[in-house]
Amino acid sequence: MNKKLFVVSGSSGVGKGTVLKGFLQKNPDFMLSISCTTRSPREGEIDGVNYFFMTKEDFKQCIENNKFLEWAEFAGNFYGTKKKFINKCLEEGKNIILEIDTKGALQVKKQMPEAVLIFICPPSLEALEKRLRGRHTEDEATIQKRMQEVKEELHRAENFDYKIVNDDLDRTISEFENIIKLELGRC
Ligand code: 5GP
Repeated sequence: MNKKLFVVSGSSGVGKGTVLKGFLQKNPDFMLSISCTTRSPREGEIDGVNYFFMTKEDFKQCIENNKFLEWAEFAGNFYGTKKKFINKCLEEGKNIILEIDTKGALQVKKQMPEAVLIFICPPSLEALEKRLRGRHTEDEATIQKRMQEVKEELHRAENFDYKIVNDDLDRTISEFENIIKLELGRC
């Protein structure tokens, strides 16, 4: 069976990390891509596990050397997926999931039209802001910046293959699983 690239996007605080964690626990044969970022690690985040943390200088060097499949600036920081990482996973026969922003997702689709784009929507903007504040990981200015991004992301999500509303975690995970099964059945 061919292996596929799935791209998951969703507004900050929408719970996409929790959905993916739930899915990956039940489907350990799927590989979650590790992105590069210039933002500082949050408490508990480990270099090489959650992200590859980089300086802006190193990141710009990688852009110049065409090392990224996609990259985007998000809330003042750079995020990107290395081509080498993705190609290696696909060559090893792994189904791979990228958890990236909507700008990056659309770049991936342009280069790899067979990639499947899934957007996880918040039940409402109010619920999203509440969840973002409840994390206590961002300051007020960052929260404001991220809420501004949300509307643009919802607009870009119109071009995704699937949209799931995360109003119930278990239901969202099973909807996510159904999409993956359906797409793998098409290979
Ligand atoms: P956070 O700082 O909360 O971990 O991530 C902020 C945003 O950056 C999220 O929407 C996340 O999906 C996105 N992101 C993480 N890695 C990448 C990446 O490699 N490329 C792009 N374009 N976005 C990413």
